Amino acid sequence: MRKNIVAGNWKMNTTLPEGVALAKAVNDALKGVDAKCDVIIAAPFTHLASINEVIDKSKLGLGAENCADHVSGAYTGEVSAPMVASTGANYVILGHSERRQYYGETSETLKEKVNLALANNLTPIFCIGEVLEERENGTYLDVVKTQIEDALFGLSADDFSKLILAYEPVWAIGTGKTATDDQAEEMHAFIRNVIAGKYGNEVAENTSILYGGSCKPSNAKALFAKPNVDGGLIGGASLDAESFMGIVTAF
Ligand code: PEP
Repeated sequence: MRKNIVAGNWKMNTTLPEGVALAKAVNDALKGVDAKCDVIIAAPFTHLASINEVIDKSKLGLGAENCADHVSGAYTGEVSAPMVASTGANYVILGHSERRQYYGETSETLKEKVNLALANNLTPIFCIGEVLEERENGTYLDVVKTQIEDALFGLSADDFSKLILAYEPVWAIGTGKTATDDQAEEMHAFIRNVIAGKYGNEVAENTSILYGGSCKPSNAKALFAKPNVDGGLIGGASLDAESFMGIVTAF
């Protein structure tokens, strides 16, 4: 059966001491609750090794927010999947809309990143989602289907089964404008069907599909109650341990 998951995406926020303190606060808060989902924090590269020292990895997973599309070599400023894995992190967010939009990431580069992540035992949290214009002109289902097909459908069923997907409508990220629970459910059910068409029902049923986009304690319960919404990828609200925990405990 697929897992329920709440993952925080800190983006380019927190200094190293602030990040370690936030990770400790989430780690401590988790000790006091019987979480009904897996909990992950994705932090800046510079913080990973230090955070790995202060959290209980049996309760709190650790991930990077990106990795390079090459394994090593003359790529100044890049951080490879083996480097991420060597910090103790087990997850990596790939294909976030901010990476696609501001850093020109394409399905071609993302294919390489996914392969390298998997080869280094990192679980990709792979993001897909349409922009506002595509939502409004009715092409949003096709857009997301193409994103999945182009970047992921070269994988074997075995490798695809290792992924976590995150549907993040770009118009809802950091805008305060959440997709309604029905909009999220429509897309998540559609994504599951697309996966079933390629890899069969068992793989589709076992794939965790998270919702991301202005998810907060006040709307998480309704979103997570939908049958095809298996949790959330949380940006802004993951920067405060209390509000992040408010989402974790929405399950
Ligand atoms: C995100 O960046 O993955 C995200 C969902 O951001 P926010 O929760 O701030 O909309």
